[in-house]
Amino acid sequence: SFLAAPSKVLFAVALDENSAVSPNERSSSIVGNQWDILDFGDIEKKLAENLNDEDIERVLQCIDAVNKVKRLKLANCVNITGAGLEPLRGSLIIEQIDLGLVGAHQSPKLYPEPSISCNHVLPILDTIIATEGCALRHLQFPLVWLQEPSTDSEFHQFLQRYNQMWANRGTISCLECNKGLPVGSGSRNEWIGTDTHGPEYGQQYNTCYGCFKHYCYDCKMNFCSTCQMDYCDDCTKMSDCQVCGDSHCNDCCEHECHECNAKICSECVKEQYECYGCVEGQVCHICGDCDRVFCSECCNFEPGMISCEECTNNSCDDCRLRRFLQGEQDCAECNKRIAPLIVRESIVSRSLKEEVESLKAEVKELKRENKELRSRNWN
Ligand SMILES: [Zn+2]
Ligand SMILES: [Zn+2]
Ligand SMILES: [Zn+2]
Ligand SMILES: [Zn+2]
Ligand SMILES: [Zn+2]
Ligand SMILES: [Zn+2]
Ligand SMILES: [Zn+2]
Ligand SMILES: [Zn+2]
Repeated sequence: SFLAAPSKVLFAVALDENSAVSPNERSSSIVGNQWDILDFGDIEKKLAENLNDEDIERVLQCIDAVNKVKRLKLANCVNITGAGLEPLRGSLIIEQIDLGLVGAHQSPKLYPEPSISCNHVLPILDTIIATEGCALRHLQFPLVWLQEPSTDSEFHQFLQRYNQMWANRGTISCLECNKGLPVGSGSRNEWIGTDTHGPEYGQQYNTCYGCFKHYCYDCKMNFCSTCQMDYCDDCTKMSDCQVCGDSHCNDCCEHECHECNAKICSECVKEQYECYGCVEGQVCHICGDCDRVFCSECCNFEPGMISCEECTNNSCDDCRLRRFLQGEQDCAECNKRIAPLIVRESIVSRSLKEEVESLKAEVKELKRENKELRSRNWN
């Protein structure tokens, strides 16, 4: 199907706008029942950003999330308070709730700060972790909840209850070396950081975000300082940023020096707008459409040229070309700029057409030969 899973359900929910809140036959038949993973990162960012709690609540009800969804990722749902998570109360099946509100391999920093609130969310999470046989393996919290830690807060109390839930599960060991877990970097041996002075407050330890397997940090587990997640070696490849020296998922550390190919994390590039090591002081540019960072030297973009002075568009040329091909770009200046790309594109599509034609001819010829051979065999 061409619609991403959450789009399908949003579409169904929209159709049901005027009917009762409970799932009805029409929507159930549209959305089907493949709901292990409900990831709002699969839908258009703009759409997710505009969803409110009522929307989320209707979606969760419509798909019977409490009995179906194992992984819930609220990527880009920055407009919610969390009240819409109500239908998840007491879920025995949910394994992961990612309240980080950003997509995979994105920095958790959000501006403006999202309004998701402990008051709405924690009582719901409590019904999940208090249920016997609860399947929860991984919790990711929004960064705003972690920034001013206080032992008096409701959130802090919740972290302790969550740690208790893990403690009740008995001994868990590193799948590689068998060392008893958890071993965070502090001395507290807890599954989620509660040291209000530590940098890892509210972060879950020793649990891969991708596969939920448990490893120690000496074996297969890595912490990425951009997306601030633990990943095991099997789920994501890591590199060290040559500026800050921290370890990052390759998808998070996507900028590469054109001279030495050293990886630079997006954090270091974005904050300082510089390429380090080789291109001192050169400004890099970020495409307004695709978020790629372009070096003035490693790509063909002249400094200051990624944005158009005519229409103030700051897309990269690939994005300009895409928009042109979709008939969405009216600016003559932008079109002039990507003229060589347009020409190349039309040559490519023409030569593809020619190739298809010659293949067709070839097939025809083969069929004819085949027929001829067969008729010869008959005689
Ligand atoms: Zn280990
Ligand atoms: Zn993993
Ligand atoms: Zn990462
Ligand atoms: Zn860095
Ligand atoms: Zn370099
Ligand atoms: Zn772009
Ligand atoms: Zn650069
Ligand atoms: Zn323009």
